[in-house]
Amino acid sequence: MDLGTVEEFAPAALGEWQPGDAWLAGGTWLFSEPQPQLRRLLDLQAFGWPPLTAGDDGLEIAATCTLTELARYAAPAEWPAAALFRRCCEALLGSFKVRSLATVGGNLCLALPAGPMTALAAALDGVCTLWAADGTQRSVRASEFVTGNGTNVLRPGELLRSVHLPASALRSEMAFRRTSLSPHGRSAALVIGRRDGAGAVLTVTAATVRPVQLRFDRLPDAEELAAALDAAALPWHDDVHGLPAWRAHMTGLLAEDVRAELAR
Ligand SMILES: Cc1cc2nc3c(=O)[nH]c(=O)nc-3n(C[C@H](O)[C@H](O)[C@H](O)COP(=O)(O)OP(=O)(O)OC[C@H]3O[C@@H](n4cnc5c(N)ncnc54)[C@H](O)[C@@H]3O)c2cc1C
Repeated sequence: MDLGTVEEFAPAALGEWQPGDAWLAGGTWLFSEPQPQLRRLLDLQAFGWPPLTAGDDGLEIAATCTLTELARYAAPAEWPAAALFRRCCEALLGSFKVRSLATVGGNLCLALPAGPMTALAAALDGVCTLWAADGTQRSVRASEFVTGNGTNVLRPGELLRSVHLPASALRSEMAFRRTSLSPHGRSAALVIGRRDGAGAVLTVTAATVRPVQLRFDRLPDAEELAAALDAAALPWHDDVHGLPAWRAHMTGLLAEDVRAELAR
């Protein structure tokens, strides 16, 4: 839709940010509803960041990498967890047109509970690099970047530059389960499990207002997993895509499925 209050469109640059500005990534959310508080859009594509940069220590995903670019990434054979890229991209409720514009960074920054890039980055122990307006940088664990439904750790004028996925996580064995109220509905519960050496990491998103991770020294049995989920007192999300009690129930089922797959 037209954004009637926006007076200027400019290439993004550090030090330029002022009230009434928004960083523009793919624009799939920004242009999907009125934004009366906005006066200027700062186009992040102007930075020209390479979308994906692989190194010995892992994979650097630029915030401006689109979901389609990520889904098409031809990962080396020693990174089996990269199979998650496509599955998480397909978990976004949108057509190929939306996925070819929507960016990894935009998905994290929008901070919807059903953000599949948040799920991916958190599950793979991603680390976010943030750039402040004064040129300083800081790092935040991807599992802690989203703080609630629509909220994140970004300060005014700060932007998400990239997410780094460590090679150790990309080498691990993963299991993915997702459900929604309708066949093509928004994710209502999404659980990703990962073998981490002798241990395991379970990441819950979509059912909760922010990502929650449970870490185990060894793969739990079904009773231990259920007890750990109960004890974690997860912050269940409540909206038209699912009631908290249903999301809690489905998360338990999906988590057990994930555990059983990792145990095979
Ligand atoms: C049909 C449809 C279905 C959708 N389904 C889903 C879904 O299932 N799950 C879901 O999570 N979302 C969904 N969305 C919402 C949205 O499209 C996605 O979250 C998308 O990934 C947002 O990315 P974008 O690049 O288009 O962000 P934009 O729309 O460009 O930006 C989103 C917000 O993030 C800010 N931002 C973007 N990049 C940065 C950055 N690098 N640093 C700081 N701030 C930044 C922007 O200023 C803006 O506030 C859907 C949208 C549509 C139209």
